[in-house]
Amino acid sequence: MGFQVLAGGTRALQPCAACRMLRRKCDSDCLLAPYFPGDDVEKFAGVHRVFGASNVAKMIKIVEETKREDAVKAMVYEATARLRDPVYGSVGSIFHLQKMVQEIKLQLESVRAQVSDSQKQRDQLLGILMNLRHLDLVSPINDPLLLDRDSFTLDDETMAYDPVNFPVECDWIS
Ligand SMILES: [Zn+2]
Repeated sequence: MGFQVLAGGTRALQPCAACRMLRRKCDSDCLLAPYFPGDDVEKFAGVHRVFGASNVAKMIKIVEETKREDAVKAMVYEATARLRDPVYGSVGSIFHLQKMVQEIKLQLESVRAQVSDSQKQRDQLLGILMNLRHLDLVSPINDPLLLDRDSFTLDDETMAYDPVNFPVECDWIS
């Protein structure tokens, strides 16, 4: 019988799903017990129907122990997909994702073309503006090219009101 740790920390003798389904004795060294707990018969039923119990055991055996959990997950995924889609199985998902990648690539190309167009339009507008400035048709005060945050600096008039460097003389403070 396989051992299963229950919530209370006690061990109960319960055959794994594989042994239950195959009506065989579940030993403490049962290869399938760690991956197919007795309370989840469906999980084993799927891989058993698609791959067969002995093939599942073989596939687990050839994988090193640290990767067996992942190998079982992959087998369960593949079996579920195969039962749902007898023609393509998990390849159906791969085709679907490849199609999505292709569509997203096309969208990306389209967005890149739009960005490129916008940059060209901006450059043309800047060129026109530079020409107008050159011809003195735009006064510097209304020139959007000068409305840059960096172009604003403290002028002399502002500095004159600095109370530390330029204390205001006032005779009304006693
Ligand atoms: Zn077992």
